[in-house]
Amino acid sequence: MKYVTGARCVKCGKRYDAVPDLTNCECGGILDIEYDYEHIRADVNKDTLRDRKLFSMWRYREFLPVEEDTKEPPLRVGWSPLYDAERLREKLSLKKLYVKDDGVNPTASLKDRASSMAVAKAFEAGQDTIACSSTGNAASSLAGNAAAAGMKTYIFVPERAPKGKVAQLLTFGANVISVQGNYEETFELSKAAIDEYGWYNRNAAINPYLSEGKKTVSLEIMEQLNWSVPDFIAISVGDGCTIAGLWKGLKDLKEAGFIDRLPRLISAQAAGCFPINRAVRENKALAPMEENTIADSIAVGVPRNPDKAMAAIRESDGITVEVTDEEIMAAQKLLGRYAGVFGEPAGVTGTAGLKKLCEEGIIDKNSTVVSVVTGNGLKDVENAIKYAGEPLKCRNDMNELKEEFKKRGII
Ligand SMILES: *Cc1c(COP(=O)(O)O)cnc(C)c1O
Ligand SMILES: [Zn+2]
Repeated sequence: MKYVTGARCVKCGKRYDAVPDLTNCECGGILDIEYDYEHIRADVNKDTLRDRKLFSMWRYREFLPVEEDTKEPPLRVGWSPLYDAERLREKLSLKKLYVKDDGVNPTASLKDRASSMAVAKAFEAGQDTIACSSTGNAASSLAGNAAAAGMKTYIFVPERAPKGKVAQLLTFGANVISVQGNYEETFELSKAAIDEYGWYNRNAAINPYLSEGKKTVSLEIMEQLNWSVPDFIAISVGDGCTIAGLWKGLKDLKEAGFIDRLPRLISAQAAGCFPINRAVRENKALAPMEENTIADSIAVGVPRNPDKAMAAIRESDGITVEVTDEEIMAAQKLLGRYAGVFGEPAGVTGTAGLKKLCEEGIIDKNSTVVSVVTGNGLKDVENAIKYAGEPLKCRNDMNELKEEFKKRGII
């Protein structure tokens, strides 16, 4: 790999060669991929990027830890839209608000960025079987990206995973193991099975390449903003790999000379499960928490990547915020009505946190903010319907329709 110099443990600092099937450090710490930024700077700049015709996460190849001859996986992941959300901005009385809709990825969540990377690295490792545990989206995205590449998958999900995600898994032909227990137990079983069978490990908190895939979300945001740095980026946090990846991408751009300052991160968690935010605020080691939230994708009581996530929040002088399920579902409706974006509960938790911080006056009205929607609302329609209200029911009868309109004062 031309631009990668190696991997370093975020706990003890030990260095490793960046082999394709790299996992945790011998001390248990997670590794971080390191780059030669001078070399990146010499080979790619804003102008060369602008001319590229490849509109996917792989347009940032120099920033990604893959061999030169590794094929891009088939599904088109990334280059999701960044909307200038005028009406939502007014609603929150912010100077500027952008919504990055990562729910439009091939399997409908930001996790596709990590799964595309997992498929590329499994290919380099000469493996044709990939496994992971997941609250749902890592699973469905791995299953889809692997199916397109002709790889086999074993997927462990907790029994509470929403039907939409399980439907995706089964449709993509994954071997699905629905674990009777919570996410922690699901993770433990997947780990034991991976050790036993030697599959390629797509658990984001173990495989250091995956947050390198996720970091493409911030590379895109910055290019889409024409390299003008926002004041804040709001995102939801579960395991912590996504916010860690987002931060890594921003730091990479700064190191490579594409931007000259860094935004502050807003780490949004559910009020029913916020171990990372709590540990950051209390400046303590992470302690497990219960998983009480509708936002299943971030219901992670024992985060597997707290070190990188907590460092990202701290280094960025970030803000932590928790939102209740009601606030999450209110944000879902707000995004739908004022931006036309339908996010799943965990997908809109960043926006819910942003709204709360705006209302509390913690975020200056003069700020420019990017809110990342991490997953599509169609993944979990049961909860959406509970909060979105009922349609007007009517027979094929114009008079009845008029009556119903009148009753409701609609027209
Ligand atoms: C996984 C996920 C997150 C959080 O990512 P972590 O790496 O677990 O912090 C947020 N939103 C959605 C929709 C997700 O699937
Ligand atoms: Zn270590």
